[in-house]
Amino acid sequence: MITVHQIAEVRTAVKQARTEGKLIGLVPTMGALHAGHLSLCQRARRECDFLVVSIFVNPTQFAPGEDYEKYPRTIDADQEQCRQAGVDLLFAPTPAEIYPTESLTTVHVEQLTESLCGPLRPGHFDGVTAIVAKLFNIVQSDFAYFGEKDAQQAIVLHRMTVDLNMPVKLKMCPTVRNDDGLALSSRNDYLSGDETQRALQIRQSLMQAQQAIQAGQTDSADIIRQMRETINQAKPTNIDYIDIVDPHTMTPVATIDSHILIAVAARIGPARLIDNILLDKKGRIINMDRLFE
Ligand code: AMP
Repeated sequence: MITVHQIAEVRTAVKQARTEGKLIGLVPTMGALHAGHLSLCQRARRECDFLVVSIFVNPTQFAPGEDYEKYPRTIDADQEQCRQAGVDLLFAPTPAEIYPTESLTTVHVEQLTESLCGPLRPGHFDGVTAIVAKLFNIVQSDFAYFGEKDAQQAIVLHRMTVDLNMPVKLKMCPTVRNDDGLALSSRNDYLSGDETQRALQIRQSLMQAQQAIQAGQTDSADIIRQMRETINQAKPTNIDYIDIVDPHTMTPVATIDSHILIAVAARIGPARLIDNILLDKKGRIINMDRLFE
């Protein structure tokens, strides 16, 4: 594995891999790698010949007052994990390498960014689409791997590639959880032991919602009410949202009669945690790749 910090070095390495006829895979991350990130790498390793991982804590996707400064940065451990995961090229640029000048260009996906995290994190999705578009242009991979844990992000990025005819295929990977069901997240580092236990209520609420739908409930408002009760048991600092939306439009669904995304964002202690579940109308889990077939 080689680690590079400059865009020109990425281009040279990828060009070489291309001349060898290799399929290129990209896993974009912000580092503080855990088993969730590694599951993306493992799938990419199976499906591609040359695996690029990027680690960049992207300042433009943090809304004012968010945790950009304190976001965990563990590059030495990340590098070791990438080496063990069979990564070929680790791209770890500085902010100055990515943003040498103020960017006058925006990449904005409408509608899909107007619910859930969008209104609560001003500028967040524009930051995400811009950095991912830049990474796609820098690496020019055949495939790029994203986690279903960040479902809205995955849906927004998929739409960006479709609308802009980007020559990269996105692959969506299931959420990796700890043994108790808590979705792995770099932000879990902020939680104490007690908070980690309380955070399990988020997953619990999603499982209850799934069971309710499997039992025939179709009224979203009822399901959301039950979920709120469950999450309140965790004594959250705030529940940012509990929503049931159509995953194609990200607009609220009142009566469940098709595919739905149930998404939660809640603050437990110092951490803002998100989780979700993607279901068909009978409450069966569906993989996000299937949505986009
Ligand atoms: P991040 O470093 O948080 O920006 O995440 C980088 C990529 O890893 C994104 O595509 C995330 O959706 C994905 N990811 C983060 N946590 C998980 C998880 N627990 N399971 C699967 N993928 C994840």
